[in-house]
Amino acid sequence: MCLYYGVLEQPGTLNFKGKKRNCILENLELHTTPWSSCECLFDDDIRAITFKAKFQKNTPSFVKMSDLATHLEDKRSGVILIKAQILELVFPVTASLKIALNAHSSLKIIFSSLPNIIYTGCAKCGLELETDENKIYKQCFSCLPFTMKKKYYRPALMTIVDGIYKVCVHVGSKLIEKILLNISPDWLNRVIAPPSDVTYDLVAADLLHALLAGSGAPCVLKVQSLFVLDENSYPLQQDFSLLDFYPDDMKHGSHALL
Ligand SMILES: [Zn+2]
Repeated sequence: MCLYYGVLEQPGTLNFKGKKRNCILENLELHTTPWSSCECLFDDDIRAITFKAKFQKNTPSFVKMSDLATHLEDKRSGVILIKAQILELVFPVTASLKIALNAHSSLKIIFSSLPNIIYTGCAKCGLELETDENKIYKQCFSCLPFTMKKKYYRPALMTIVDGIYKVCVHVGSKLIEKILLNISPDWLNRVIAPPSDVTYDLVAADLLHALLAGSGAPCVLKVQSLFVLDENSYPLQQDFSLLDFYPDDMKHGSHALL
């Protein structure tokens, strides 16, 4: 299920005042007016379908299933689906601190790392906000007068392996949330269903542990690749970003057609 957010200016209609790709959140930013309100839509809602037709024209209607060997040989930029095993997730926290989670990380280590893989940022642009000496969050100057804050998962670098080939893929905050079964970073300390004392962070840690254990089925990953080649077709730069994640590879066929 996908949800689309739109700006409602007249009841029942969606009017997008503009769009801008946000590199931190990897989604569209909607510009609103003081009369705007927000509504969450299911993906079969006619307004969501209209939205997709209007703003997702660049998304291919059919994405080819490929493998890393072929793709690295072709060196062609584009969107592909790859079935691969996830080896590692590295979350850069500060310039000098990184959290690397892999098959060697115990459930306990993953669980205790969770508070460090989330941050508080500007609710509009996702910029990480620092605190002042009184532990009050500073404002995001580029989004003033908007001052709302939100918790985010940190974007990560994911190492994937397909056969003998290994690449690093950039994973945005939203997709880390999707990998964690859409558990919002705000929910991590909450109890799932009282009177049980199981909290969402236990579930999130368990999901990451299972994902990185290396024994599970490979995932299907929708990846955007970018190759910059020299005149001899030697790659000067190759960059991969995760566009979507399908844990159950049996279902990729239907997703690929979205
Ligand atoms: Zn901002």
